[in-house]
Amino acid sequence: MKNIYMDNNATTQVDPAVFDEMKPYFTELYGNPSSMHRFGGQVGVQMKEARQRVADTLNCEPDEIIFTSCGSESDNTAIRSALNAQPKKRHIVTTRVEHPAILSFCKFLEKKEGYEVTYLSTDTSGRLDMEEYKNAIREDTAIISIMWANNETGNIYPIHEMAKIAKERNVIFHTDAVQAVGKIAIDLKETPIDMLSLSGHKLHAPKGVGALYVRKRLPFRPFLIGGHQERSRRAGTENTTGIIALGKACQLAHDNMEIENTEVKALRDKLENGLLATIPDAILNGDKDNRLPNTSNISFGYVEGEAILLMMDQLGICASSGSACTSGSLEPSHVLRSMDVPFTFAHGSIRFSLSRYNTEEEVDFVLESMPKLIENLRKLSPFSAEKEAPDCAVKK
Ligand code: PLP
Repeated sequence: MKNIYMDNNATTQVDPAVFDEMKPYFTELYGNPSSMHRFGGQVGVQMKEARQRVADTLNCEPDEIIFTSCGSESDNTAIRSALNAQPKKRHIVTTRVEHPAILSFCKFLEKKEGYEVTYLSTDTSGRLDMEEYKNAIREDTAIISIMWANNETGNIYPIHEMAKIAKERNVIFHTDAVQAVGKIAIDLKETPIDMLSLSGHKLHAPKGVGALYVRKRLPFRPFLIGGHQERSRRAGTENTTGIIALGKACQLAHDNMEIENTEVKALRDKLENGLLATIPDAILNGDKDNRLPNTSNISFGYVEGEAILLMMDQLGICASSGSACTSGSLEPSHVLRSMDVPFTFAHGSIRFSLSRYNTEEEVDFVLESMPKLIENLRKLSPFSAEKEAPDCAVKK
């Protein structure tokens, strides 16, 4: 059976060159970088190199990088640090379409700790409104956290402009760039961001490692307290193999940016255009002109996303759906809800996210298989263009 992986926004294959780089640090060079002896020293040198590589990818200084365990930790740390450093400020600005690493944490802060949060809305293409953004910033805003690119639609947000406005208003600006790093160019010398999160497993490094960029001289309060690792900004013995892998993956991502923006994008466009042309009642979700080059989120009307995924899986095609089976009910994702995607389309949304490992042959196979697959499922569906769902517009 085929094994076609088009779910790279969920996680990616570890690049073989990354794996080669990290391997010796499991079995031979396994020292603790805090140790005084040679085992520690050897690892320390390689970690320094990894930090430099991450910094080069973002165009920042190596000591502005704090290694963490994942994107979620980086996101939580950024927000908690801004709140703890400015105890009088009790307001946060974010969007309705953030990843749960931001959204659930903000809801928790509202509910359990009494913070106020403004969630910016989107239009039907998932775009933010700059006027709404400017109006949301208050005297007591402690932090603005806006994702650079959306994990479901691939939409890219105007982070440069938003960060500039935050700076003018003297508010800390954080961006969750977990989906952006490695896919689009980032230059922190040009863009006045205070904190930025990234995650290894989205860019061909393994799971369990991430980083938080913290601009020099920004007041910072650590989330994990204990040892003096990461210059006392993140306690815990470092994930040395993960960090070394992340450094290599960032270097490769930097070198492969052109491939991402030409070859991967060409495959994505071929897939997307082909599906939209051959399958009736299929629509694109997201900002057609301003998206990550690898992501395509398509709704196939009147069919259930989970059913589509199961049928695709039987053909060896792996992608993901925009509805999550939570508490027994199939709720469309918060991102599609924010975009007011109609009920019968939101439920049939599939996210295809490609990488440099996908091939034209794979895209051709998906294009050959999908029309029949959707047609068969529609024969079983209680809904159709003629028999729309009852008035159950998607709840916001
Ligand atoms: N932020 C975004 C935009 C993501 O897509 C993800 C993961 O899907 C995360 C944060 C969380 O990253 P991690 O899985 O490394 O915790």
